[in-house]
Amino acid sequence: MKKIEFFLHNINNDDLLRLNKVVKSIFLTTGTEVALFEQAFSKYLGIKQTVGVTSCTAALHLSLLALGIGNGDEVITTPMSFCATANAILHAGAKPVFVDVEEDTGNMNAELIEAAITEKTKAILPVHLYGQMCDMEKIHEIASRYNLKIVEDAAHSIEASRAGLKPGQISDAACFSFYATKNITSGEGGAISTNNINLAEGLRILRLHGIDKSAADRYTEKYRHWDMPILGWKYNMDNIQASLLLGQLRRIDKLWEKRNQLWEYYETLLKTIKEIELLKTLPGLKHARHLFTILVPAKRRDQILWSLQKNNIGVAVNYRPIHLLKYYRKSYGFKEGDFPVAEEIGKRTISLPLYPKLKKSQILYIVNVLKKIFAKNKRY
Ligand SMILES: *Cc1c(COP(=O)(O)O)cnc(C)c1O
Repeated sequence: MKKIEFFLHNINNDDLLRLNKVVKSIFLTTGTEVALFEQAFSKYLGIKQTVGVTSCTAALHLSLLALGIGNGDEVITTPMSFCATANAILHAGAKPVFVDVEEDTGNMNAELIEAAITEKTKAILPVHLYGQMCDMEKIHEIASRYNLKIVEDAAHSIEASRAGLKPGQISDAACFSFYATKNITSGEGGAISTNNINLAEGLRILRLHGIDKSAADRYTEKYRHWDMPILGWKYNMDNIQASLLLGQLRRIDKLWEKRNQLWEYYETLLKTIKEIELLKTLPGLKHARHLFTILVPAKRRDQILWSLQKNNIGVAVNYRPIHLLKYYRKSYGFKEGDFPVAEEIGKRTISLPLYPKLKKSQILYIVNVLKKIFAKNKRY
């Protein structure tokens, strides 16, 4: 039996043709192809500006810096995410302040935000977990009242909307990832989308050392000396990455349709296994269907992971909460019990394969393996 991979990307021959054109051209770094991608991405989201960068981590880091967040500031975020979310806050020089998550969705619990606000709080950084958006209206209302910035970690949720709002529409900036296992990918890559044109201008300078002319400007225009008014980073997306993303972006809704069908198939089949629980998709929103996770009894979780692997099924754990990672425990004194809902999910969750190339027959096989695991072995 051939392995069912945890993830397979969707780069096709048209994308390779486009890539080939770019590689055969003279201009590999940030240029026309990146600008085309930025325009197309903004249009898809219904947002004024997109700035292409090298990763979502870079996107989060630069957004915080451009919004003036730094040393001594606090940023409220969730422990139920990839460590990049909180690391970006640390890279900016600020301190991540976690609030616990909702039991039903795993998303930051907006009810807990106000109690975490101090005089040092400068921003809220929600993560739209697995593709389901947080309650942005509520978060926006709190942010307005306390004069806080909002940076969204939308790495899972390009296709998502909630109450008619997409990522970036009522925040200062939304950050996206095109990492190897994301819904559209260039291996590595990221973007920041914002309705704030000044912020976007600042980000374009910050993503390239803080210099006031990009290589493309220097190439296409009459030579003029560039200057460096501020200190920036080397985070610019290149034409190679953009060439891979442009076609995938055109197919993004079709790819979502496919994942949505597979998601519903999983849900129907899994109803027959009483030991397995699922998080909820709230009514009236569009879930981006990025990661399909199940919750199993905590005591059995690791055994089940290994059994799935032994049966040639790729698995992952998204996520063991950030506050319990060694560096965070050691540096900030976090301990078990600090964020019990996130910890419970972290102990019970397993991510199963979900991508457009996955077949229904493979899902059937995965669910049957799970059935056998629960039927025969109660001693884990
Ligand atoms: C993947 C991911 C990131 C990091 O993205 P990179 O592009 O690899 O930096 C950040 N946050 C979340 C929630 C992610 O899943």
